Amino acid sequence: MIVIKRASLLRTYLDEETTNSSRVGFVPTMGALHEGHLSLIEGAKKENAIVVCSIFVNPTQFNDPKDFEKYPITIEADIELLEKAGVHVLFLPSVTEIYPNGTGQLPSYDLGYLETVLEGKYRPGHFQGVCQVMDRLMQLVKPDNLYMGQKDYQQCMVVKKLIQLTGIKVNLHTCITLRETDGLAMSSRNRRLNAEERQKAVIVSGVLDRIRKTVQPGPLEPIVSAAEQALKENGFKVDYVAVADADSLELPDEWDGSRPLVTLAAVYLNEVRLIDNMLIP
Ligand code: AMP
Repeated sequence: MIVIKRASLLRTYLDEETTNSSRVGFVPTMGALHEGHLSLIEGAKKENAIVVCSIFVNPTQFNDPKDFEKYPITIEADIELLEKAGVHVLFLPSVTEIYPNGTGQLPSYDLGYLETVLEGKYRPGHFQGVCQVMDRLMQLVKPDNLYMGQKDYQQCMVVKKLIQLTGIKVNLHTCITLRETDGLAMSSRNRRLNAEERQKAVIVSGVLDRIRKTVQPGPLEPIVSAAEQALKENGFKVDYVAVADADSLELPDEWDGSRPLVTLAAVYLNEVRLIDNMLIP
């Protein structure tokens, strides 16, 4: 594995190493890697001659400065994992490599409804930051295939929209969420949970799983309220629990029994914000 820190060197390297027929797969991350990230890399390895992974904790997508400061950084362990996983290129840029003209005047993206709901509503500016970094990374890597996790369901929708807006040619692969054996979605932020919080955290996936298994055609409000109540009773601060249209993220009052849905939640366990989602059916 080659580690590249400079944007210009990354482009030169990929120009030299790739031909028109060698496909490039790209897995962008913020590090503190776990098996979920590695599953994206596995997917990328199957379909591409060259796999590029990036580790960059993007300051522009953190609406909460404390969350940014406390974001786990485990770079040495990450490098070891990526090497073992058979990644060809690790791109490890500094903030100035990604934003050479500073972060003051970055482009803004017309994300419409997507930016007003759920994560968009509770993390103002977050998806603009995601688009800023993804736009820059994709211009640099020019991947044929991009691998992202369903764990960040709305982020995948935003990146799909970004691909439409910019016209960049790339296939987005949305990969399933890897979970711990008790059901907790793997996440870099789980490292910040103490033992007691870690035990409690599993309630989030439990609540979503219950919605998934018990949702019936008809009004959705009672099942969503019961889920919210269960989370609050267990000491979570709830940003949202919702049942949304899986394609548009609209929040219907009723389910007709056939429209594909997704149930999503974002909660705080003390300082740590956890998100998860499950498709219905
Ligand atoms: P992050 O480092 O949190 O920005 O995540 C990098 C990529 O890994 C994103 O596309 C995430 O959706 C994906 N990812 C995070 N957690 C998981 C998981 N548990 N299973 C599969 N993919 C994941």
